Amino acid sequence: MERYPSVIAAIGNTPLIRLRKASEATGCEIYGKAEFMNPGQSVKDRAGLFIIRDAEARGLIRPGGIIVEGTAGNTGIGLTLVAKALGYQTVIVIPETQSQEKKDALRLMGAELLEVPAVPYRNPNNYVKVSGRLADQISKSHADGAIWANQFDNVANRDGHMVTTAEEIWSQTGGQIDGFVCAVGTGGTLAGTAAGLKRHSGHIKIGLADPMGAALYSYYTNGTLASEGSSITEGIGQGRITANLEDFTPDFAYQIPDGEAVSILFDLVQEEGLCLGGSSGINIAGAMRMARDLGPGHTIVTVLCDSGNRYQTKLYNPAFLRSQGLPEPDWIGTAPKYDI
Ligand code: PMP
Repeated sequence: MERYPSVIAAIGNTPLIRLRKASEATGCEIYGKAEFMNPGQSVKDRAGLFIIRDAEARGLIRPGGIIVEGTAGNTGIGLTLVAKALGYQTVIVIPETQSQEKKDALRLMGAELLEVPAVPYRNPNNYVKVSGRLADQISKSHADGAIWANQFDNVANRDGHMVTTAEEIWSQTGGQIDGFVCAVGTGGTLAGTAAGLKRHSGHIKIGLADPMGAALYSYYTNGTLASEGSSITEGIGQGRITANLEDFTPDFAYQIPDGEAVSILFDLVQEEGLCLGGSSGINIAGAMRMARDLGPGHTIVTVLCDSGNRYQTKLYNPAFLRSQGLPEPDWIGTAPKYDI
């Protein structure tokens, strides 16, 4: 085991875990990159680190400075842990619909948290736009500088995945990898990892796993940004081509209904000891669809973005699932079998 000078060095180098049922069902080897094992417990620690390091390198911020961001939660957590370790503060704008667990984690870590109503991106009061205006305002008065992390259109996010996630996957698979699939929030994980892997081998196929209600499946299959339906997954589901997605085109695009993802997630808890967040379910469903397209014998990697403990009040709450017409976990809430 290594020892680190600070929590920052503990970001990344996450394990690849074989997903047994997904592999057996498809005849492929399907692996999940265990991003929930990062110190902030999600894939977004990487973006937090690269965005702050990039701002420092550009001389935009000094210790004591403030980092402002609009986030579904995980980027705020990643930014806040890196910020605290380096002597910065964070101001986080979050749509009020995001899970209580993520809001609690942000407050616990000392982020200043502002909840705003969830409105579409075209609305000037959308959380991303509010955070941009707030960063502008704070930077005018704060002596040590303030930056807008701007994860959607800041390509330091994508670059972080190109130089870390992709390299790790390439070396962990010994170059024996045929496909990489994941969902898009900002596009940093998908486009960055894809670019890094394609640098090693142009034969690796890249797949988008899009939740319902997002517009990218439509964009990459027929050229129009259009969406139908909705999803309970948090942190993913994009309606525009962000800067992180520029110059990116997947080889395959899949549209995954929540029901398909949720069933996979419940089986993973019961049969493989993995309790994951909703976007991981969309990702694994996408990997299984790519496995069927490529045929048996291929190795496909996807991302286990965060842990189910961030969504106990939603994804793992039978009453919430019932209200959404989704399959319910049959083991939660049942009485113990044994008397004592
Ligand atoms: N899953 C979860 C749980 C997330 O919070 C995010 C980030 N918004 C993603 C997936 C998508 O990652 P990216 O922003 O790199 O597209």
